[in-house]
Amino acid sequence: MRAILLPRSFTKGLFMSTTYSGSCHCGAVRYSAEVDLTQPVVACNCSMCGRAGWLLSFIPATKFQLEAGADSLTDYQFARRHIHHTFCKVCGVRPFSRGATPDGGEMIAVNVRCLAGVDPTTLEVKPFDGKSL
Ligand SMILES: [Zn+2]
Repeated sequence: MRAILLPRSFTKGLFMSTTYSGSCHCGAVRYSAEVDLTQPVVACNCSMCGRAGWLLSFIPATKFQLEAGADSLTDYQFARRHIHHTFCKVCGVRPFSRGATPDGGEMIAVNVRCLAGVDPTTLEVKPFDGKSL
């Protein structure tokens, strides 16, 4: 069975990466992530993302560091269960998810709305039709 699901176009072009601090609302979950916000962020319309309103940037797991809150994260999975939709069990915010590239590499989907100092209204947004997958 083929592991899915993140099109390659989401993962290239990490030349302008900047390290950001991210967190949930209550602060129990904190991380740093190298994200290239000169690239469009992804707004997916699947049953999960559409409800949550995420704006996502996909990065290799090597560019992600969970600094606090591993024991505050609850894991929610659905459909083919390839993505771990982690959320803070205290405040309910979903600051990132874990997934895999088609070749099996570990990926992080960073919710750029949870990054300190980032104004989501200034970002270029690329729609992704996850509903049709
Ligand atoms: Zn929290």
